[in-house]
Amino acid sequence: MALMNRIPTNFLWTRLSQSANHSTQPTSRQLELMARSLPKRQELHGVKSIVVVASGKGGVGKSTTSVNLAVTLAQMGQKVGLLDSDVFGPSVPLMMNLTETPLINKDNLMIPPINYGVKCLSMGLLVDNSKPIVWRGPLVMSALQRLLRGAVWGPLDILIVDTPPGTGDIHLSLSQNVPVTGALLISTPQTAALEVASRGAEMYKTLKIPLIGLVENMSHATCPNCGHTVDVFESQTERFVEKLNIELLERIPIVRRVAECSDSGTPLVLLESESEYAKSFRRLGERVVQFVNKSS
Ligand code: ADP
Repeated sequence: MALMNRIPTNFLWTRLSQSANHSTQPTSRQLELMARSLPKRQELHGVKSIVVVASGKGGVGKSTTSVNLAVTLAQMGQKVGLLDSDVFGPSVPLMMNLTETPLINKDNLMIPPINYGVKCLSMGLLVDNSKPIVWRGPLVMSALQRLLRGAVWGPLDILIVDTPPGTGDIHLSLSQNVPVTGALLISTPQTAALEVASRGAEMYKTLKIPLIGLVENMSHATCPNCGHTVDVFESQTERFVEKLNIELLERIPIVRRVAECSDSGTPLVLLESESEYAKSFRRLGERVVQFVNKSS
């Protein structure tokens, strides 16, 4: 313990600011060059598989799914890590009830704090949350590098990476940096969300990252009194998965307590372990484990 210190709050910011280019938004040419200059898909020491959780659109439940999936996998006996790569809107610390900045070891590597059996790192643990993060592309990519390679992740069976909405720098940088085992797409059942998720799917296909499948979140609701199930939206998901030639892995219900649990830092799968919601996550967890085991 004598070798470990807390990271000063401005540690990462200072380090990254030194290499930042504040002049202009990077052009696609610059992005291409930056991507080329990144190390080519080097393994993360001690990490057997990396699963990226992506959605396209924001607000469809990507972070909530990442957190509940990570905790479920840990309960299933997997060694699990959760990396929140949403630099601009980190939500994992709140959802996982983590507030302390990570310790650093003698090699200047961060030690991800653990809660509910999951090792977690997020930009939210490294910067002052009361201030907005206004970084440009290069700085964001350096931050991701630091979260990936500047930490002692291993030994892990699965590292879940919660990504920001869209198909931007983080997605490109991740796929260039580490061997991603598979991407899990999250969408709500409406066309607007599914169309954006499809663009994400196409991006991952182009980057030669296998798609594990699609999770339909906020799919249906079950009446707590009579148990009757209603589809909240007219689902367009079947049509989309067929078009994309990917599997619909699970339909996760819309549950009132999800937001409350996220805000209080106790994932619902832990609080209501025999609920339909938790069972959905166990089925999803099994599919993810099957996929990564087949890929390794
Ligand atoms: P994203 O990461 O895609 O932006 P979040 O995980 O932050 O989305 O979820 C957006 C909102 O939807 C949050 O308030 C969250 O609590 C809520 N939510 C997510 N999944 C469900 C669900 N299955 N049932 C009810 N609310 C949900």
